Amino acid sequence: MNIQAPKGTRDILPLEIIKWRYIEGIIDKLCKYYGYRELRIPVFEYTELFQRGVGDTTDIVQKEMYTFEDKGGRSITLRPEGTAGVVRSYIQNGMASLPQPVKLYYNITAYRYENVQKGRYREFNQFGVEAFGADGPSIDVEIISILDDLFGKLGLKGIKLNINSLGCSECRKKYNKELVDYLRPKLKGLCHICNDRFERNPLRIIDCKEKKCGIILKDAPALADKLCDGCNEHFEGLKNGLVNLNINYNVDKNIVRGLDYYTRTVFEFVSENVGTQGTVCGGGRYDNLIVAFGGKPTPGIGFGLGMERLFMEIDSQGLVIPGNAETDIFVVSIGKKAELYTQKLVKQLRGKGVIAEKDHMGRSVRAQLKYANKLGAKYTVVIGDTEVESNKAVLKDMNTGEEKDVSLDSIPERMKT
Ligand code: ATP
Ligand code: MG
Repeated sequence: MNIQAPKGTRDILPLEIIKWRYIEGIIDKLCKYYGYRELRIPVFEYTELFQRGVGDTTDIVQKEMYTFEDKGGRSITLRPEGTAGVVRSYIQNGMASLPQPVKLYYNITAYRYENVQKGRYREFNQFGVEAFGADGPSIDVEIISILDDLFGKLGLKGIKLNINSLGCSECRKKYNKELVDYLRPKLKGLCHICNDRFERNPLRIIDCKEKKCGIILKDAPALADKLCDGCNEHFEGLKNGLVNLNINYNVDKNIVRGLDYYTRTVFEFVSENVGTQGTVCGGGRYDNLIVAFGGKPTPGIGFGLGMERLFMEIDSQGLVIPGNAETDIFVVSIGKKAELYTQKLVKQLRGKGVIAEKDHMGRSVRAQLKYANKLGAKYTVVIGDTEVESNKAVLKDMNTGEEKDVSLDSIPERMKT
């Protein structure tokens, strides 16, 4: 039998986990400073949630969902993203009665049936943030600022921020008419999915990645040029806030984002290092989504950042993430009595927060020391009958070679001096 992991999935091995924990630690801290609280949502939801929440004319819903019927005959889908589940949770748990805005973040796996390529997996990890209840651009600026700080803290350079506005339903209605008039005579040149979108949601066509569609779309009217006064003011407020915080941006009128529910602000952080599509992170405002899910009218904004793409970026820029030392001390034992003593000693050391190791393979003393070296142990101590009786031993610093006589119960303190 030779079973491989399913296509598009990957194991995160122990040495990589150190890096993941490090980055997740920075994210947790950053979110704490910004006042965002962690939320954990289920891996699967009823399919309808994503059909309505992500939108049934999106790539995700049309092509990429892992959907199946469970044994009770319900249609279930593995979450392809986080926002829909978070919004459901916000409504279901009555978070509307909390002081606004309600600021949440999550770190989740997501599932999409995609063509696997560089930076594109079928199971991947997303760090995301959602803020509910604030309709002004101030919160838009805040969540973009979280990302700016994250990249800054990691020392990442050259990740570009593109912003756009998709307006409100009113701007969208007017614009849709113009777009339809522009596209109607060119329908034959568009792919078959865009032909379907033309009937159901023409704006989606702007997001198409097919080359032949791209050529036609180059001269299409842009939504950002047709905004109503309110939407224009919001967009200007966003730009002013970004300038105020010294966050560089570029207006890209072609961003519509992959999800149907966006209104007004949409944005992406892009880089050449993260594969064909280049998006490290995407987000936007979704002022109509909560109502669509049956909640009270509530504005919302959020983003999703691909963790694997963040790591690709970190690797491409050659950043070194500090790794934890794996072993503080290795306790070598000689003989049966010493072995039992060692068993107790490592338990005590671990109880005091020391990463302590011992042999489990019946190795000779020499082999135990060799193994301690391989583990990168910072200290070793050798326990034989004399040490057991006197409660004293020699603590050796493996980096400097320095040796100290210590009493066995003072080891944790003596390792620090
Ligand atoms: P793309 O344009 O790359 O298809 P998207 O618009 O589908 O991205 P979102 O739904 O906005 O992406 O998801 C947010 C982020 O999650 C993306 O910016 C990307 O970093 C990451 N992401 C999306 N799909 C994948 C995937 N299949 N594998 C790894 N990361 C992904
Ligand atoms: Mg996609």
